[in-house]
Amino acid sequence: MAASQIFNFSAGPAILPPEVFERAASSVLELRSNAHARDGEGIGLSLLEISHRSKDFDAIHTGAIALVHEVLGIPDSCEVLLLQGGASLQFGMIPLNFAAAGRTACYVDTGSWSANAIKESKVVAETRGHETAVVASSKSSSYDHIPALPASLPEQACYLHVTSNNTIFGTEWESLPEVDTPVIVDASSNIGSRPMGLERATFGYAGAQKNLGPSGVTLVWYQREWVAAQPPQAGVPMILRYKTHADKGGLYNTPNTFGALVLKLMLEWVRDNGGVAGMATRNQAKADALYTLLDSSSLYTPLAKSGSRSRMNVVWRLGGAPSGQEDALTKRFVKEATAAGFSGLQGHRSAGGCRASIYNAFPLAGVTALCEFMQEFERKG
Ligand SMILES: *Cc1c(COP(=O)(O)O)cnc(C)c1O
Repeated sequence: MAASQIFNFSAGPAILPPEVFERAASSVLELRSNAHARDGEGIGLSLLEISHRSKDFDAIHTGAIALVHEVLGIPDSCEVLLLQGGASLQFGMIPLNFAAAGRTACYVDTGSWSANAIKESKVVAETRGHETAVVASSKSSSYDHIPALPASLPEQACYLHVTSNNTIFGTEWESLPEVDTPVIVDASSNIGSRPMGLERATFGYAGAQKNLGPSGVTLVWYQREWVAAQPPQAGVPMILRYKTHADKGGLYNTPNTFGALVLKLMLEWVRDNGGVAGMATRNQAKADALYTLLDSSSLYTPLAKSGSRSRMNVVWRLGGAPSGQEDALTKRFVKEATAAGFSGLQGHRSAGGCRASIYNAFPLAGVTALCEFMQEFERKG
């Protein structure tokens, strides 16, 4: 939240609502006793200097977890943890905790993050001895769609891992797949953006820095009974076992206390703005505006096939540029957009082109303004 008039399309760490920035900033100066920055008595201390075992932090921590259930609809049968290490640590922890010799860890490869998860499963398998199966992939078409699942999964499947939204290539599952195998979902970049059945996952996780708060805190939830029934974890360091964290109420070691507060503030903001259903309406309107423009343009070409298009990350190329000039024109587009106050539109280096990340906190006004800018850019050539 810097100077006004900059629309921040960053893919992550990403935009947060102004109220969340204000409350978080005020808690850094002095925490309020009810963990809200606006009301409640000041406690005379900053959030950043109090113990994670204090009652003031406990109110933040338990409040955040309660909101994960209430706002995101995660069932009470699930454990909720706020861990560190990012979504990427989960790529390794998942096979360490849930795969074993004789079992097959199944993955759908829908882009760079899925590929990283698959890579970690293969590394872990060097000692755990499980198989890693890529059961569906859209790699051969540059990850432009969500591939169909095979009619059946391998007999020894221990889980099916999917990435609900592909931040880099801009594709998204319409809803979480319904299969007999436990589904594990990396929901880092579309959690809380619309109802899509994430709460049905046996295990889910999300790095907070896209839709839930700052970097350095990762939301993890899972069905307690399923995790309790998993193979023994010989050789797995204590800190990499979910049980260690759950047994200590999520406070095995010092959590990211600031991250927990911002995640809580963000979920309060979602709740107060119509909940996940309210987010869905806003997000659909934003995405529709951009895709309508892309589909009707002769300069801009969307990367994702319809039916698989992300409402969170809209990716396009300047594919209608005269031959040989696309790169130069893309550079000029990003440069002029930046100068006009549209920040963060450069596409990821592995996908190229441009990307507008329009997470929950991103305002419709910013999309409308970008659409006008894009039409003007195309018109004047
Ligand atoms: C950003 C992102 C990640 C990586 O998150 P880190 O917290 O940086 O490890 C993983 N998966 C998805 C879908 C992402 O968008």
